[in-house]
Amino acid sequence: MVDTAAVQQRVEELRKLVNYHNYRYYVLDSPEISDAEYDALMRELRQIEEEHPQLVTPDSPTQRVGARPLEEFGTVTHPLPMLSLGNVFDREELLAWLKRISNLLSGQRFDFVAELKMDGLAIALVYEDGLLSVGATRGDGYQGEDVTQNLRTIRSIPLRVSGRCPRRFEVRGEVFMTKAGLEKLNRDRSEQGMPLFANPRNAAAGSVRQLDPRVTASRPLDIYCYAIGWAEDGAAVPDRQWEALSWLKALGFKVNPYNTHLDGIEEVESYYQSWVERRHTLPYECDGVVVKVNSFAAQQELGVVGREPRWAVAYKFPATQAITRLVDIGINVGRTGSLNPFAILEPVNIAGATIKMATLHNEDDIRRKDIRVGDWVVVQRAGEVIPQVVGPVVSRRTGQEREFTVPKVCPVCQGPVVRPEGEVMSRCINAQCPAQLYELLKHFVSRGAMDIEGVGESVVQDMLEAGLVKDVAGIYYLTREQLLSLPLMGEKRVSNILEAIEASKQRPLVRVISALGIRHVGWETAELLARHFHSIDALARASREELTEVPTIGPKIADSIYDFFQQESNLGVIDKLRQAAVHLEEAAREARALPLAGQEFVVTGRLATMSRSQAEARIKELGGAAGSTVTRKTSYLVVGEDPGSKLDRARSLGTKQLTEEEFLRLLEEAARRGQ
Ligand SMILES: [Zn+2]
Repeated sequence: MVDTAAVQQRVEELRKLVNYHNYRYYVLDSPEISDAEYDALMRELRQIEEEHPQLVTPDSPTQRVGARPLEEFGTVTHPLPMLSLGNVFDREELLAWLKRISNLLSGQRFDFVAELKMDGLAIALVYEDGLLSVGATRGDGYQGEDVTQNLRTIRSIPLRVSGRCPRRFEVRGEVFMTKAGLEKLNRDRSEQGMPLFANPRNAAAGSVRQLDPRVTASRPLDIYCYAIGWAEDGAAVPDRQWEALSWLKALGFKVNPYNTHLDGIEEVESYYQSWVERRHTLPYECDGVVVKVNSFAAQQELGVVGREPRWAVAYKFPATQAITRLVDIGINVGRTGSLNPFAILEPVNIAGATIKMATLHNEDDIRRKDIRVGDWVVVQRAGEVIPQVVGPVVSRRTGQEREFTVPKVCPVCQGPVVRPEGEVMSRCINAQCPAQLYELLKHFVSRGAMDIEGVGESVVQDMLEAGLVKDVAGIYYLTREQLLSLPLMGEKRVSNILEAIEASKQRPLVRVISALGIRHVGWETAELLARHFHSIDALARASREELTEVPTIGPKIADSIYDFFQQESNLGVIDKLRQAAVHLEEAAREARALPLAGQEFVVTGRLATMSRSQAEARIKELGGAAGSTVTRKTSYLVVGEDPGSKLDRARSLGTKQLTEEEFLRLLEEAARRGQ
């Protein structure tokens, strides 16, 4: 007999611990325990919740992901409109703003709060009784989209606030993606032939506005909160912006540590100046400083004109664009053989850095923007992200410009170049192409893949030049003597590298799959594959049909994976990895052995004996899958009270239907078989 009270107590204890360490890690950036210790807590919590689904609460840290994809977003009306800010671009305009507001309040002296203006997506979070109840986008300022499920996946957004707070209140903030996060996401997307995000704002918006919360969860999103939108009548909230920020911080919200309280407009100016260059050292993009009058009473008096408050202004940083000449278009061969065009520019200074090269993404992009060699082009630099060519200045054409054509042979190996139908990239299809091996090896050892520390670009280059590695598996056969023969290698460095190589043999399966560099298989797909197949061998044996059975894997990705494992040379690499004792399978429990393995359930309507999430938890416990829409893959539709359109769909597809009673019987039977 299980002691329910003790279990309940342990669950609460675990939640508190996990929430606390989440907060240390994601909000304060100063973890107290190791990742492994954190994972252990999370695992224990998840396990107890799986065994006792009735103990799952909406604010449990396990519930950040797990919601089903939506068919469309609901609409949220903002009780208090989310205003946009007027801009100023220099000291004169800033002083003019100060003059305007001083005149309105007859010479009153102001103090200010200056905040870094994040380049992201503005959102509103409503808390009720301390729990996050609604999260919405800004939309047009009056109405936004209900993206609650997606915002729940962002770890720095508290699901429950800590401390005393009004019964209902709204917090506003900016969801953003770091530069590194955006770069990695774009790299994955480029490999998969998907359109790239032009800037962090688009990336944040595109990630938050996803119908499937799992996609949002996989994106590296963060938030800084900057305002109390409103609080229910009678609640005591601060009466100044600077105190409001501390108040938010005390409740567990993430507030930008660089925000500051300033006495006068000269201090605002120097704060701004100090960030004009320094902003490029930040891990995220910001495009200006928001200057706010500190006192809420003064804000109230100043009011709003049109959609812009008079009491705040965005002091924008200087432009990050410039015009220069496109001297030539070069080609870089990527790890999957893709021919990536890049712009060779007449050097130009943009926001303090000399730019000589910029990305052009792909052939279609060049054609769509009609960029020609010899054109004057607008180049944009956004911090550390690779500069990009925005487009040509057509009015400055002389007629001497020439259109770009993709070379017919690979510029590195002279091998044949093809452009598969429906893809945006031309490719070198010579599997022995040295450029590909170089890119592939770089990818293989990178932090996002096998994470072999000490083996960087130059070491990879040296290894290839010395002929020490002929494929990625070759790295596991390097000897101490071979490494010592490379330039700039000493005993200590070689020992470190050998250790790092050894350690990488224990990496989880998802990393190995991702490291192989299979076309169209980025991290997200690798995770799905690892979870589904549990071993490289099972993945390699999978037919195209079996591959498309994995949720979200379409025929194009399936083909690419299938083709990869049809090639002798790739199977050879897998064998070499195996002989080197690289982990090629997941130690996880064998899902196929579970009684409901391979069966997908969709629940519609209300069930009398359990909530939908409890039903889904039961299904998953027994090895089944819980879907949200009825498709041909759906094995059963469980029909509760007031079923929705899913029932019609199931009828038209001929999907088997179960009443609640039948469903319970099936679960019972499965549980018996599973013992
Ligand atoms: Zn080539």
